[in-house]
Amino acid sequence: MSLSNRELLKWYLQAGVDEAVGEEPLNRFAEPAPIAPPPPASPKPPPKTADTTLHDACSLAEAASTVDELRLSLADFEGCALRKTATNLVFGDGNPDADIIFIGEAPGAEEDRQGLPFVGPSGKLLERMIGSIGLARSTVYISNTVFWRPPGNRSPTTTEMAVCMPFVERLIELVDPKVLVALGGPAAKSLLAQSQGVGRLRGRWFTYSTPRLARPIEATATFHPAYLLRSPAQKREVWSDMLAIKRKLAEL
Ligand code: URA
Repeated sequence: MSLSNRELLKWYLQAGVDEAVGEEPLNRFAEPAPIAPPPPASPKPPPKTADTTLHDACSLAEAASTVDELRLSLADFEGCALRKTATNLVFGDGNPDADIIFIGEAPGAEEDRQGLPFVGPSGKLLERMIGSIGLARSTVYISNTVFWRPPGNRSPTTTEMAVCMPFVERLIELVDPKVLVALGGPAAKSLLAQSQGVGRLRGRWFTYSTPRLARPIEATATFHPAYLLRSPAQKREVWSDMLAIKRKLAEL
């Protein structure tokens, strides 16, 4: 039995079909086209731990075989948070073959602007201290325990100092001076591995050694020039420390 179009429409209406959704018939049982899976997300590098940052600092520092190479490695080193707020890297200044190295605490505002250590008011006083024993700034080497200015001139944290220390140590190895002078408490404690304050460490001699140094370096401490600017009464002690440094240089 065949139905006319009219009868077929009537049969559809009775069966509840009252709307045409397309001109062409659609086979809804056909397989849908497969949806391509999203590409795998590229794996995020895990955040660096303090240990891996320190390990990076040690490897970078050890790989440097000249003071200039060390400066370049440090310029690429992202592991010290201080670099984010600083304007410039303050690496060091002076003669890389010097007989004497002075290590201060941290760059201040003027050092950050110029990218050179001890160029502000305490730098002027340090130059006078050095000059008092017949040395010019250009003949010694000067650096700090951290290489970027802490914001607002706060003291560097132990973490900031620890992560910069492999570079400080390598700098001392590469300059390989006869005498090392720590300026102020933080530099004295970390470089001389002592817990006392600078008032008790100054005027005494220690040895600074690392496995890569051919021989230990004679090391001492004195008051930081910024402290001397605030407490000029201590100039007498610093004068006596400078004379002891002069004598030590003469005998080595
Ligand atoms: N104080 C420091 O310890 N270092 C500088 O470079 C300047 C001021």
